[in-house]
Amino acid sequence: MKFELLPFLKSMLSVSGISGYEAPIRDVITPVWQELSDRTWVSSHGSYHAIRYGAGTEPRPKVMIAAHMDAIGLMVTGIEAGFLRLTQVGGVDSRILPGQMVTVHGTQRDETVELPAMVVMPPAHLLPKDGQKGPLPQKYLLVDTGLHPAEVERLVRVGDVISFATEPRELSGETISGHTLDNRASVAATTIALDYLSRRKHLWDVIAVATSQEEVGGIGAMGSSFDIMPDFAIVIDVTFAKGPGGGDTVLFDMGKTITITWGSCDHPALYAAMKATADEYEIPLARDFAPSGAGTDAYDIQIAQAGIPVVELGIPLRYMHTPVEVVSIKDIKRAGRLMAEFITDLPLDFMNSVRWE
Ligand SMILES: [Zn+2]
Repeated sequence: MKFELLPFLKSMLSVSGISGYEAPIRDVITPVWQELSDRTWVSSHGSYHAIRYGAGTEPRPKVMIAAHMDAIGLMVTGIEAGFLRLTQVGGVDSRILPGQMVTVHGTQRDETVELPAMVVMPPAHLLPKDGQKGPLPQKYLLVDTGLHPAEVERLVRVGDVISFATEPRELSGETISGHTLDNRASVAATTIALDYLSRRKHLWDVIAVATSQEEVGGIGAMGSSFDIMPDFAIVIDVTFAKGPGGGDTVLFDMGKTITITWGSCDHPALYAAMKATADEYEIPLARDFAPSGAGTDAYDIQIAQAGIPVVELGIPLRYMHTPVEVVSIKDIKRAGRLMAEFITDLPLDFMNSVRWE
């Protein structure tokens, strides 16, 4: 089976996988990563691990690539006359919710049942005064499945999750939009890296990890760090691209560059080595900054064990945490290639040069 980026990415953007409920996205990743690795397994918190053994003599050093596969979404908090009340799982801005197509993950005879639905609001003329101007308070939002109230009571329970159902859409200029590009763009880049490595000789063991529960606190990454015990980790996630709301502080043009983070969470020696690889292979790599620690899996990996050295890459993305996030396909490919070149060139004694001076 030859790995093809776009169909794989689109299939990832067509399934759910809300933090803590990653089975649907894991099932899409599984056959592709199985093909590109020597062994795969699922961690105790649902992260998906795929190892490619290196060609070096044992005991071999290990590098972990971490890309979270979970997604933000919604959860049912109550059922009223057949309509569902909702709350957020992870950072969802309720202002974008009215009119969204969603899927309610209910239960029928102990099996998950997917109910097509949408987030609705009452017509403006029927709303009380506090709902008539400005963003609608979340208390007025409901989810409508179209089912009779008794059926809803039978199939849906408080705590069931609701995922976005926006279809992925190829836009012009080699860009794509979808509801979970944060962070499936990075899972795609990690897969590209595995694909390159499957055709090369690399001395190090490489463990690709599609982490769970990043959006609710990096729980998957933390457990995976102890499970794998890597010598260092490459964390890849999305970052803000230039665009609406970017102001003067957002520097990265989507489609022009990927990023490497500079900040206390990122190991200076790994930063320098990754930058040198990017320069050597002429892969554009802009400097992002994290003044007060990482808000990503990088933190949870960095503080595991005795402290794991981490380097963080970013794929610029517009409209973060909305159902219509946008990234450039070129940037996904760049990130995959950079990770592959970096890992291919790793000498067995590389860790001797990773010192926090
Ligand atoms: Zn993310």
